[in-house]
Amino acid sequence: MSILVFVEHHNGSVAAASLGVLGAGRELASAVGVPLVALVTGPGSADVAAKLPVDTVYHADDERFHVAAGRVDALAAAADAAGARIVLAGASVNAADVAGGLAGRRGLGINTDLTAISFENGEFVADRPSLDDSVVVKSGWTTTDGLVGLALFRPGSFTPLELGSAGSVEALDVADSGRRGQEFLGLEQAATGGVDITKSDVLVGAGRGLGGPEHFKLVEELAATLGGEVATTRAVVDAGWYDYSTQIGQTGKTVSPKLYIAVGISGAIQHKVGMQSSGTIIAINKDPHAPIFDFADFGVVGDLFSVVPALEQKLKARKG
Ligand SMILES: Cc1cc2nc3c(=O)[nH]c(=O)nc-3n(C[C@H](O)[C@H](O)[C@H](O)COP(=O)(O)OP(=O)(O)OC[C@H]3O[C@@H](n4cnc5c(N)ncnc54)[C@H](O)[C@@H]3O)c2cc1C
Repeated sequence: MSILVFVEHHNGSVAAASLGVLGAGRELASAVGVPLVALVTGPGSADVAAKLPVDTVYHADDERFHVAAGRVDALAAAADAAGARIVLAGASVNAADVAGGLAGRRGLGINTDLTAISFENGEFVADRPSLDDSVVVKSGWTTTDGLVGLALFRPGSFTPLELGSAGSVEALDVADSGRRGQEFLGLEQAATGGVDITKSDVLVGAGRGLGGPEHFKLVEELAATLGGEVATTRAVVDAGWYDYSTQIGQTGKTVSPKLYIAVGISGAIQHKVGMQSSGTIIAINKDPHAPIFDFADFGVVGDLFSVVPALEQKLKARKG
């Protein structure tokens, strides 16, 4: 028996959400008294596997594991090989696809958007915030034997585990289920301008409050003064004001910079889940009731078009 974590990586870099779930998995595995096992899929996964600090890591490197159907085959094989009691993963679009596939094949339940999990009286119990996070629903799984189900966690719910070395690393033998419907045709580098916001220590988040793409110079200059990058909300990228690769949140990237300055961002839950583990959060918003002020460390209530230039002037004066 074991606790199995589905780990995601991008070009060999382990997703922060997966490292967080590995941390939760380690605690759960010791509460249940079973090993912690991980699965990593896709080209380059053997290298990633060696760095994961768990008892056993299975890797499946072939290109057929680039698509969800192949990954479901791999997850099913790993669950069987590990005798998994439960599968844990960060709640990404990819993980939701794969978890849904396995749940469908095996008739298992998935609990999503979770923030915690424990083992109480022989059963797994998970926390799922609901009604705008005003209540926490205690959720379980009805299957009791073997693999009981799957759990997907909000990114940023746990402290990421440090990379280290795996107890044992095994190439997974994955039978092709033939359940396709998808075909991997190749990878194409997106035009991101070479910026990876997940690697920056300082991010200036720009929201719809900027009013239009013509005002982004304001945040670009502030980011440059601080040696950081510009990040955005979905409202901004959906409006076509900035590149999709800069979007933070549930359907964007998860970031944990040392400093996050939210400019004209309301702080919707779908944005919050992508940046809540930032070191220091500063919000600039003209609405004193904007939700961002509920979780910012410092807040400035005011018009960003006067606050941001004033802040930059002060920073430049201090630097000079
Ligand atoms: C399934 C789903 C997934 C989603 N995924 C994401 C996601 O990944 N990432 C994401 O960000 N969102 C996501 N969203 C959208 C999310 O719900 C919000 O709509 C979005 O985050 C709002 O972006 P915003 O804060 O830029 O805009 P708004 O909510 O419109 O906020 C703009 C803010 O700017 C302030 N403002 C306006 N003018 C000024 C000024 N002159 N000075 C100072 N402040 C000013 C306003 O007071 C307001 O608070 C998702 C939604 C759904 C339904």
